Amino acid sequence: MPASIIDGKAVAKTVESEVSAAIAALPFRPALVAVRVGNDPASEIYVRSKAKKAEELGLRGHEAIFPESMSEADLLAEIARLNADDDIDGILVQLPLPKQIDARKVIDAIDPAKDVDGFHPHNVGLLHLGRPILAPCTPAGCIRLIESTGVTIEGAHAVVLGRSDIVGKPMAAMLLQRNATVTICHSRTRDLGDVTRQADILVAAVGRPIIVTGEMIKPGAVVIDVGMNRVDPAFADRIAHDADKSRLLAKNGSVLLGDVDFAQAREIASWITPVPGGVGPMTIAMLMKNTVTAAASRRRT
Ligand code: NAP
Repeated sequence: MPASIIDGKAVAKTVESEVSAAIAALPFRPALVAVRVGNDPASEIYVRSKAKKAEELGLRGHEAIFPESMSEADLLAEIARLNADDDIDGILVQLPLPKQIDARKVIDAIDPAKDVDGFHPHNVGLLHLGRPILAPCTPAGCIRLIESTGVTIEGAHAVVLGRSDIVGKPMAAMLLQRNATVTICHSRTRDLGDVTRQADILVAAVGRPIIVTGEMIKPGAVVIDVGMNRVDPAFADRIAHDADKSRLLAKNGSVLLGDVDFAQAREIASWITPVPGGVGPMTIAMLMKNTVTAAASRRRT
């Protein structure tokens, strides 16, 4: 029997309803500021959709937009101003930043209590100590998707492909905290398939289209595909299976492919996230959840 599809849009909607209910119960409207420096078109879309979603759920969502030429010192001064503003509950800085600005310095400058992306070393430390308060949104969304299947994480062998600070490492920490046996793979892993075939839960966060093929998956595994790879439609047509092609419609001249061969994996796994419509919708929903958490804990309501 083909794997059941984990519907990220539906799970994200549930999270959003919880967020709206939590906001309605607060005596104030939490505020989220999304900071963007420069005119990167993808960043423009991300920042706008985050601020829009915030408003939609009952938060106050602001965009703070600065020119590409902004100096690091000026951005740090802006962050200090937002940190000091008692009316602001969440601050996120959209990456990448222009080359004259050191992103690490900027992230380190955000008040950890307002760090809704969960990237500040203070929050990273708490996560790895098993005491998370504000955890990174994409892996938190993946956990929510795994939990939505009803499959037990405790005792499962979870294999995470990728060790980035944004996805792979926090994902592994969250699975470990839930008592999975966790293996992390990366570009120097010798035999990827040998490891992935042992996975009861497989999370792919590599950023290479269709790097995970059917024979790399253990029968009955839960497969979470974080990969978002924009590829040329002709390339997608060559590598995607016929069964998949109607799902993968070209948008703005490119096709979005995951890290997993969806058509093959679906025949072997028990549960699988599609791309698009799997992990993607969860990230913004978890960001909204973090904003409410940040507001409630900072204002001690
Ligand atoms: P990243 O920083 O580029 O990290 C990629 C990881 O994959 C690295 O740890 C790298 O290993 C590993 N890797 C590269 N080639 C490999 C190979 N052949 N075999 C095994 N491991 C390999 O990427 P990221 O920011 O974590 O993002 C990963 C993917 O998730 C991207 O497609 C991104 O667009 C997507 N993403 C989606 C969302 C969402 O909301 N859905 C959010 C964030 C990211 P090394 O460390 O050894 O280099």
